Amino acid sequence: MKTNTNPDLPSTTLIPRDIQLFLSGRSLLQQELPFSQKIMNEYLSQGLIKLKPGIRIQHRTLRCERCANTVMRLFGRFPCANCGKECSYCRKCIMMGRVSTCTPLYSWNGPIPENNVTVSLQWQGELSPGQKLASEAVLQAIESSSEILIWAVCGAGKTEVLFAGIEKALQLGHRVCIATPRTDVVLELAPRFKKVFPTIDIAALYGGSDDRNLYAPLTISTTHQLLRFEAAFDAIVVDEVDAFPYTFDESLQWAVKKAAMLRSANIYLTATPSATWQIECKVGKRPHIKIPARYHRKPLPVPAFTWCGNWRKQLEKEIIPHKIIQWVRQRITAKKQALVFFPHIELMEKALPLFRRLHQAIESVHAEDPERKEKVESMRAKKIPILLTTTILERGVTFPNIDVAVIGAEDDTFTESALVQISGRVGRSASYPSGKITFFHYGRTQAMIKALTHIDEMNQEAQKKGLLS
Ligand SMILES: [Zn+2]
Ligand SMILES: [Zn+2]
Repeated sequence: MKTNTNPDLPSTTLIPRDIQLFLSGRSLLQQELPFSQKIMNEYLSQGLIKLKPGIRIQHRTLRCERCANTVMRLFGRFPCANCGKECSYCRKCIMMGRVSTCTPLYSWNGPIPENNVTVSLQWQGELSPGQKLASEAVLQAIESSSEILIWAVCGAGKTEVLFAGIEKALQLGHRVCIATPRTDVVLELAPRFKKVFPTIDIAALYGGSDDRNLYAPLTISTTHQLLRFEAAFDAIVVDEVDAFPYTFDESLQWAVKKAAMLRSANIYLTATPSATWQIECKVGKRPHIKIPARYHRKPLPVPAFTWCGNWRKQLEKEIIPHKIIQWVRQRITAKKQALVFFPHIELMEKALPLFRRLHQAIESVHAEDPERKEKVESMRAKKIPILLTTTILERGVTFPNIDVAVIGAEDDTFTESALVQISGRVGRSASYPSGKITFFHYGRTQAMIKALTHIDEMNQEAQKKGLLS
């Protein structure tokens, strides 16, 4: 939190600006406020702070004002020490502190703090032709407070597309947020933005982050942490808008809406929009711009379908299907690293010792793996020739020169978007723009065919628009 600048006051003395900066655009429980009750009462009576009930009772239903939960079984009851009655509380967002019937949410009702910051973008890179078009579209959405979807293939370089628009927004004194469902993405983006916008405060928010109380013109946050915000941002970018759990959890979509000002720019980024969004784009209902080519201007590797028989049954008999053995051996001989995706942890763990017969250093990784970080690092350091993985590595990771295989591509786990993302791991680096992606299967699914068509259409569009070199 910022301290006051008056040298006559001790640095801990609270002045209105402190409260203004702390509360502006947020919606918090009393226990989250570092101010005394006396000060709070003073600002309440001046109308600078407003309260709303944490849980609204409508007829016989309840609604949590922080996470929008209305599902009755997600409310609990407890004998409340605070009001002496039996109170209801929201179980859905309990990890962020208990919102109950008698606990109000505090927010700022005074003037919005001005962002008088000097902003200059420190970036010398050059945008690809595809990026340039998207960058202009972002700028326009910022200037007109409108909505746009940037549908950019994996490896298009979508972060750079935001720079000019965000610079403009900050120069206009706007408050900007980049939100993403995944903590990994927050941790990756924060240092990149700190580097290109060195003169401003940037808050990185995720569970347990130190920046929790930092008021910043640019906030990079998990969608989850936005539950503590309300009418805060003039521009919100949602990166990986289709990623888990955002698409499945309506309260996170509500969090993003609630965190935005009434009039705001909304920018969505993804390589794999949902089926609904894809249709809306096709029929002209959703403003969007596509970046169909990667920044290095080489086409996306197209998946090859290879039938491998009943792989599940074979693995259960401790046999790796012959075609998969061949594929792995070729990579080991050529010393080319590879990722091999499995639909389920149990199968992968069963397969690991079998794969180790082909090379001792083969490893496996999954979401709950305590050594997940170390293994990804070892892969990067080329200490692991082949890494078996669940869909945990479908996004976000970049290894420069790899081939990728999917085992059991027909499994339900592998949706169109998962398969497109997985294919997108190959050929990302400009030094190694190609590579092989193979779907080993025991029967083709719609998802596999849709993924193939998706990639193929992007390549065709890139070709047609002259975006490939
Ligand atoms: Zn709630
Ligand atoms: Zn109570």
